[in-house]
Amino acid sequence: MQGQLTFLGTGTSSGVPTLGCRCAVCTSADPHDRRLRPSILIRWDETALSPGAPSRERVVVIDSGPDFREQALRAGLTRVDGVLYTHHHADHILGLDDLRPLSFTVFRESGLPIPLYAAPDTVEVLRRIYDYTFKADATYPNRAKVELRPLTACNTVLGIDFLRVPLKHGDMDIDGFRFGNTAYLTDVSDIPEESFPLLRGLDHLIISALRHKPHYSHTTVKQALLWAERIGARQTWFTHIAHDLPHAETNAALPQNVRLAHDGLTFAINLSRDLSRNPDQNPVRPNPGEAPESL
Ligand SMILES: [Zn+2]
Ligand SMILES: [Zn+2]
Repeated sequence: MQGQLTFLGTGTSSGVPTLGCRCAVCTSADPHDRRLRPSILIRWDETALSPGAPSRERVVVIDSGPDFREQALRAGLTRVDGVLYTHHHADHILGLDDLRPLSFTVFRESGLPIPLYAAPDTVEVLRRIYDYTFKADATYPNRAKVELRPLTACNTVLGIDFLRVPLKHGDMDIDGFRFGNTAYLTDVSDIPEESFPLLRGLDHLIISALRHKPHYSHTTVKQALLWAERIGARQTWFTHIAHDLPHAETNAALPQNVRLAHDGLTFAINLSRDLSRNPDQNPVRPNPGEAPESL
């Protein structure tokens, strides 16, 4: 079951360039060094799920941060069928209101709001910030047509499974997601032991790697490399990158099957639910000589 993944943003919470900073990365001419706030989108065509069905694009976004509007324009998004939230920090939730026009399109088409999947603490923050959207007696006429749904172990959006992968982010419990042959783990400072079985048989591991210098709630490049090796995905992509890491120079020092992602990077993924539920069906082929799929 073929789908496509696009990095909408690969930067840390302040984005790169960082406002007011004149460092080599923030002033770099390399477009790969410009990083919007972290988010990915997953697209597939309905015909891939049910052959014979009319061709219709389906789109799920993981996190809608403060750059969501710009990212949606760049990616040519005309719809969103679901949003999954990893946690409630500003860089992951502050674009929720920009779902409005897309939610009106989806509502006109289906009569249904866009489902937003979030853990209880994130639901609480979203209800507080966007009270004019979620209050039972909300009267604001142009509020987003969205509906909060509790995150569960397996969240199925229009036939695609997104398994919750518990993670630590400093003191916080946050969530990553496993879908088919791919996992997205951002803002990680630790991976609980019980989450590793959910990460078997991956072709693509996307994991945050902030910088080299330790940070209390984010992993370093060195630690991310150790987890990448243990998880053993065919290809690992780093995201949530600070201005400490120049794209080309950092990539040159990484093993060939580990690369910094960059905004706009797109590749094909397999969204089959069998790969999520029975990960050992996809034994990863160790192939250290293989070139990265798409740079
Ligand atoms: Zn973040
Ligand atoms: Zn965070």
